[in-house]
Amino acid sequence: MRSETIAIHGGYDVDPTTKAVAVPIYQTVAYAFDSADHAAALFNLEVEGFRYSRISNPTNAVLERRVAALEGGLEALCVSTGQSAINYAMLNLTELGSNIVSTPQLYGTTHTLFAHVLPSQGVNVRFAESDQPDAIERLIDDKTRGVFCESVANPAGNICDLEAFARVAHNHGVPLIVDNTVATPILLRPIEYGADIVVHSLTKFMGGHGTTLGGIIVDSGRFPWMEHAQRFPMFTQPDLSYHNLVYAEHFKEAAYIARCRSVYLRTTGSVLSPMSAFLLLQGIETVALRVERHVENGRRVAEFLRNDRRVEWVNYAGFPDSPFRTLAQKYLGGRACSLMTFGVKGGFEAGKKFYDALKLFKRLVNLGDAKSLACHPASTTHRQMPVEEQRKAGVGPETIRLSVGIEHIDDIIADLDQALDATESDERSKLLSCRSLISFEER
Ligand SMILES: *Cc1c(COP(=O)(O)O)cnc(C)c1O
Repeated sequence: MRSETIAIHGGYDVDPTTKAVAVPIYQTVAYAFDSADHAAALFNLEVEGFRYSRISNPTNAVLERRVAALEGGLEALCVSTGQSAINYAMLNLTELGSNIVSTPQLYGTTHTLFAHVLPSQGVNVRFAESDQPDAIERLIDDKTRGVFCESVANPAGNICDLEAFARVAHNHGVPLIVDNTVATPILLRPIEYGADIVVHSLTKFMGGHGTTLGGIIVDSGRFPWMEHAQRFPMFTQPDLSYHNLVYAEHFKEAAYIARCRSVYLRTTGSVLSPMSAFLLLQGIETVALRVERHVENGRRVAEFLRNDRRVEWVNYAGFPDSPFRTLAQKYLGGRACSLMTFGVKGGFEAGKKFYDALKLFKRLVNLGDAKSLACHPASTTHRQMPVEEQRKAGVGPETIRLSVGIEHIDDIIADLDQALDATESDERSKLLSCRSLISFEER
């Protein structure tokens, strides 16, 4: 089935007991066992079924099957947020003293997780100088357990050459982990280009309405853990915390998600509530339609901004002369995302004026909502980063990030236009005061 169809039907037919057509919300903590033997078989992971909703839940299972199908993966694990998806995806590959190699262009909180939190737990993250495959390759050593990137980075907007990244990672016997939040599987399916693991913040375009936090880890099922047994003992050696189970033997190609569920979700519990899974499923039903409109509105806004003399620069991968044009063509079919950054003339002060004058666009830190959103990364999402790191992440003091919504394009542009007026009046008054200063000095 195609993505549009999977988004609506994937992972669910009708409920076998009630024939409910909509996905039921299984608001239950536990599930009854038929007998002591049945319970033991469940706990031995010998039979499929549900035990306790911290480990799995039927509503969440539909979400997992649906997103796995959308991404062309084997299995998925949904969790409470995008951040916990990234954290678990990393923990599931690493141990004390090992490292991950990452591109520098990252979502701000992921950068903090990588630069500070994982290292404090004994897992180092090495940031490459750039998003070029050779810059990644230089940092991989025998302690490396994975390569991480965002397919389309937030907010830098650079598009990673996933095929080249996968080649580099696989040459060194490590998996490629891709955060596909901004692109969504509607624009890009990283597994088709060799990615091994895909993570998402479902909070953004997937849920699509700014109501519900959620995250998911999708495994392609293709990484050969057994071939790299030395590097990944967590999959190939008996797990003392789970009666000596060897994940890669017991679960074969499904080892990665099985271990993530029974080790990390089970013991540290960043569970998605079934109510949230239901809301996210509801959102996903329309993701293909919404993304289509986001892309079209994004293109119109980018063109408007670029042709406006009040705007200094626009970073949008869909322009014919964008440095990412070729990659956008290859990986997104030319459909650049509706996320873009730009700077208004007049720098930081003018940028602030513009930001404060927005009416339809909401000032906040979020993206991928049906509503048009604007963010000032330097004062919010990337505030914790030193200025130099901000630059590497594609954030300047004047940068405004837009997530163009699916409202009528005329209303979106009218709002930007009136907000740009506010910056211009500011510019004019500065010019005037500058002139009066000159004439004052001349006097
Ligand atoms: C928002 C976001 C996250 C974090 O997701 P939450 O659901 O807010 O935890 C991770 N990666 C990217 C690219 C994001 O945009």
